Amino acid sequence: MIVGGGVVGISIALHAARRTDPLSEPVMLLERDVIGNSPSSCSAAVLGQFYGSTQASGMARDSLRYYAGLEGKTGRSLGFLRSGVLTLAKGSSEKARQRLRELVEMQDSIGIRVECADSEQIRELCPGIQISDEEIAAWEPTAGCLDPQLAVESLTALARNRGAVIREGNPVEKILVEGGRVVGIESDDGRIDCDQVVVAAGPWTRSILEELGVSLPIECVLAEHYYIGSQEEHQEEVRKQGVLSIASPEASGATGWYSRESLNLEGGETALEERHSEEAAPIKTAHPVLTDPKTGFYVRCDPLQSRVSVGRRGGDFIPISSPDDYDPNVGPAFSAWARAVLESRLPHYAEQPDLGAETGLFTRTPDNQPLLGKVEGVEGLYIACGFSGHSFTMAPSVGEGIAQMLMGEPVSAFDEEFYSPQRYL
Ligand SMILES: Cc1cc2nc3c(=O)[nH]c(=O)nc-3n(C[C@H](O)[C@H](O)[C@H](O)COP(=O)(O)OP(=O)(O)OC[C@H]3O[C@@H](n4cnc5c(N)ncnc54)[C@H](O)[C@@H]3O)c2cc1C
Repeated sequence: MIVGGGVVGISIALHAARRTDPLSEPVMLLERDVIGNSPSSCSAAVLGQFYGSTQASGMARDSLRYYAGLEGKTGRSLGFLRSGVLTLAKGSSEKARQRLRELVEMQDSIGIRVECADSEQIRELCPGIQISDEEIAAWEPTAGCLDPQLAVESLTALARNRGAVIREGNPVEKILVEGGRVVGIESDDGRIDCDQVVVAAGPWTRSILEELGVSLPIECVLAEHYYIGSQEEHQEEVRKQGVLSIASPEASGATGWYSRESLNLEGGETALEERHSEEAAPIKTAHPVLTDPKTGFYVRCDPLQSRVSVGRRGGDFIPISSPDDYDPNVGPAFSAWARAVLESRLPHYAEQPDLGAETGLFTRTPDNQPLLGKVEGVEGLYIACGFSGHSFTMAPSVGEGIAQMLMGEPVSAFDEEFYSPQRYL
């Protein structure tokens, strides 16, 4: 039983359903709202691999390959744009440049395609960018971003095709524990018996666990997003390359797993597989995803929505005491900040109109690493939460690793000990 239908819960359902017989041991996921209304759906969904630890970078590497492969093999679009991700060093001091070089080396050693770009290369990759000649960046040509809504919808469809039972509008009200082990859950549809429950309920996870007497340092924060008109001159081209046109299986009479014959793929299968090959040239967006740790922002092109979005990177998120009671409005200070930092690097955006701003919730932990796995003391209880703004980047690896745990297989998808919730219990 999985609680929560954000990208993490859905990915766990998909990976678990791949391993089970849907008739004798169905995987079930309950979502209290509608899939697609979760905080996941308003993510920037950037898939960078440039982290400070081999554990996180390794998960991001495997997840990126999984997303690209999934689109290529099934034809279900996740809105994947291999636009490349460019992460500037945190300033032009020798210390900052050295740190970036070390991280590039570390990531290269675990098979990530990343290289150090000097100021000339950065200017080529990101036309119009304002940088000094001393600045360098990490360049990930095969990374990119997803369309969060489309990704969640497609992963849900694939999980259902694998036999997962996914119920919406069905909140889990209580996890039932007897004699120190999970025996079921209570929902407004009544009791469902089960001996394993994974809580992947994002900002609601903390209170669900507290009812079981488990206290974990999961903080809920509000992140803001600012949208500005895009300068894409070739949106149609990107639309074709970036999002596939797919006939619905119902319309073509196909059942079960999506057959290639049921798909109407622009450019045919060969073009599809080539587009997802790591050797393929990045999709031509106006510029790659740009992350600037010094000013603390990222910007991603979103040609499918005719806009670019700007958000904070690291610190300065607004703590929220309850995910059911907060002000979702974006203050004018954030929009002014976002415009100023964006224009400080890419001044040509000064010409582009405001398209509004939005907020979204996510969770973080004191060490900014997620809590993944068994909660000792309650047999059969697992959690996947506290992604600190990186759950799209990691969701496929998390789904695979938690499914391995549920089936009693050795966990190869992530470092079980490093991410164990026991570090705070
Ligand atoms: C502005 C912004 C930008 C971001 N950018 C990125 C990015 O670039 N890259 C990246 O990787 N991540 C990014 N993130 C983070 C990421 O989007 C979120 O952390 C992530 O989507 C959380 O996914 P989740 O599945 O853990 O939880 P959620 O999406 O929060 O889903 C939890 C679900 O559980 C359900 N639920 C709660 N209680 C119950 C219950 N009792 N019974 C049943 N269901 C329940 C909720 O309704 C919800 O649908 C960003 C987030 C924001 C807000």
